[in-house]
Amino acid sequence: MNLAILGATGSIGSSTLDVVARHPDRYRVFALTAHRSADALLALCRTHHPRYAVLSGLAEDAGLRASFAAHGTQLLFGMRPLEHVVRDAGCEAVMAAIVGAAGLASTLAAVRAGKRVLLANKEAMVMAGPVVMRAAREARACLLPVDSEHNAVFQCLSDAAAVRRILLTASGGPFRAAPLESLVSVTPAQAVSHPNWVMGRKISVDSATMMNKGLEVIEARWLFDVPAKAIEVVIHPQSVVHSLVEYVDGSVIAQLSNPDMRVPIAHALAHPERIASGARPLDLAAMKNLSFEAPDERRFPCLPLAYAALEAGGTAPALLNAANEVAVEAFLAGRLPFTGIAQVIADTLDAVPSRALEDLDGILAADEQARRAAGERVMAVAA
Ligand code: NDP
Ligand code: MG
Repeated sequence: MNLAILGATGSIGSSTLDVVARHPDRYRVFALTAHRSADALLALCRTHHPRYAVLSGLAEDAGLRASFAAHGTQLLFGMRPLEHVVRDAGCEAVMAAIVGAAGLASTLAAVRAGKRVLLANKEAMVMAGPVVMRAAREARACLLPVDSEHNAVFQCLSDAAAVRRILLTASGGPFRAAPLESLVSVTPAQAVSHPNWVMGRKISVDSATMMNKGLEVIEARWLFDVPAKAIEVVIHPQSVVHSLVEYVDGSVIAQLSNPDMRVPIAHALAHPERIASGARPLDLAAMKNLSFEAPDERRFPCLPLAYAALEAGGTAPALLNAANEVAVEAFLAGRLPFTGIAQVIADTLDAVPSRALEDLDGILAADEQARRAAGERVMAVAA
């Protein structure tokens, strides 16, 4: 299978390449993309020899083009080529692993082209869930969840009509047990050091605020076509049970593994078959306990904000996502306290009205409007 990896230099990108390299008989790397990390992308091309590489955040550079060509790879520049490579007839499957709203257009292009789409870029689903799902149906794209919780739910689903609840597990992040009054002075370095997973910086902060779980509730609502009230979040600090599905007869089915993104990635790559992922086998006897607790909304105000955006509908989830991206970036840059993230998002949702969700242009306009409003809120909170 010829695979394009969007966001190849990231955490999901490198886990995907690790799994792919274990199965050279099954997978060929068709295209690899990064935003500005030219050296890292070149190193990947040296190993995997894709036909195309894209640097979406750089302008034409003849020197760079020549150094990629030396490895047999044609290098393209700018955002547009992301869509061209996923539409190419030679591309069969796309790992959508760009972080944030920046991944929406290319993810949607892959879906519209009817490709097998391995979805890591949850923000695309949060912003445009109904649009992406409709496009997948129309183009008969095979959309496979990579997010570990959604991949778990996908694996646990049998009779969709008999589902009572979906239970998404959350680790609770690094501040699950920290004194509430200490959260205001949390540093970016503390926020990105997750207890169980090594991930990109943005999703690591989202895990610390639990906005990540809020985004995942919205993602699950569209992926599995279940109402928000049937999606619950439970904190499970060991990150071994990746999610659960409860059926009307009272049966609860869960998927377990060591916390290693190569497990859901291998599943999405090979489905309906199974392939080795490289993950360490689970040793249940060595595990002291698996515990579960309800999330505290005072500690994690982003979670109720996400449910509220889902309830409001239309472009509200896109507004929530954009405000979160702006707030997280400001926090990482030292311009906003950790507790200001939820504040900026709440204020943005109050300030910007949600509209009916129609097409990609409307969603992108909402995204832009929320970014402006959130930027102003960041300045106000910081002042
Ligand atoms: P990383 O930050 O590690 O990697 C992001 C990738 O996207 C890099 O290749 C980066 O290129 C590229 N990129 C960044 N900004 C842009 C842009 N504006 N336009 C185009 N490409 C861009 O992120 P992760 O791998 O952690 O996450 C990727 C996605 O997968 C996110 O949506 C995240 O929520 C989701 N996900 C991640 C999980 C994880 O374990 N990491 C788990 C579940 C979901 P460059 O190197 O040049 O900046
Ligand atoms: Mg997840």
